[in-house]
Amino acid sequence: MSYRSGYVALVGEPNVGKSTLLNALLGQKLSIVTPKPQTTRHKIAGILTGSGYQVVFLDTPGLIDPRYALQEVMMSSASEAIGEADIVLFLADAGRKDALESIKGSRTLREFAGAGEKRPVILVLNKIDLLRKHELLPLIGAVSAAFPFKEIFPVSALKGDNLEELRGAIVKYLPEGNQYYPEDYLSDRDERFFAGEIIREEIFKIFREEIPYSTTVEIEEFRDSDTERKTFIRGVIYVGKESQKGIIIGKSGASLKSVGQNARRQIERLIGHEIFLELFVKVEKEWREDKEKIRRLGYR
Ligand code: GDP
Ligand code: MG
Repeated sequence: MSYRSGYVALVGEPNVGKSTLLNALLGQKLSIVTPKPQTTRHKIAGILTGSGYQVVFLDTPGLIDPRYALQEVMMSSASEAIGEADIVLFLADAGRKDALESIKGSRTLREFAGAGEKRPVILVLNKIDLLRKHELLPLIGAVSAAFPFKEIFPVSALKGDNLEELRGAIVKYLPEGNQYYPEDYLSDRDERFFAGEIIREEIFKIFREEIPYSTTVEIEEFRDSDTERKTFIRGVIYVGKESQKGIIIGKSGASLKSVGQNARRQIERLIGHEIFLELFVKVEKEWREDKEKIRRLGYR
């Protein structure tokens, strides 16, 4: 049999479980997952290589109406991913009471995967662990009547239910093609990038309301020690206002310290050895409103 390869875009509203699904399909934690919506800001490729195939998954920020400049950049990276995709995986949260309405009313489905669309669109009904069995079949019936999905897969990305079947379907619809990346690549991003994402994830876990959304992280230095198996990492946490800086640092530095401790553990798990992590907080005034600053802070 010939080799199959292609790009698969993961799309759907914020919080439906796109990043969780990506991590589960890859068997590795790549994309940041938190209970707060819109934590994924960058387009991240996750690479799954099996015998005779390679899938490049594109995890995208949820498609929402842009309210500030950062969101516009996030949106365009999502539509870009859909543009590049051979297969579109549209995710919905089956646990939501309005699951059917949210699929029917989805602008993304209409705009990017509507009539005339030749690429297969697979519906992933995620979070079925939150649903009772008798609720599932009617939902599947109703959504299949509403939109010509190639396939519909009820899954639980969290519990790992039905993921093998989903993976099989994805491979089935992959076009013939060459291997894009070496076999042992998990992502198109490097450890330095993921170190920044992990720090950002910790900020999302610890702080509330606007703080996480006003924050971005830049890794200024990522350097292996010459003498020991240790990596030195210096990260800068950028916030938009002076007042936010104090909040991130916390009383006697306590909050920043716990961000650092948690992030260090996670980064060590990712790269497989000890790190030395230094974190600073800087104010980059209203960076989210400024496309130039957004670009400079690493969003492409
Ligand atoms: P994204 O914004 O679409 O990338 O969503 P995330 O992957 O960040 O997930 C959002 C939230 O939904 C997190 O709290 C996840 O733990 C949770 N979640 C994801 N998949 C499942 C699932 O299959 N079942 C349940 N119960 N929760 C899930
Ligand atoms: Mg995400």
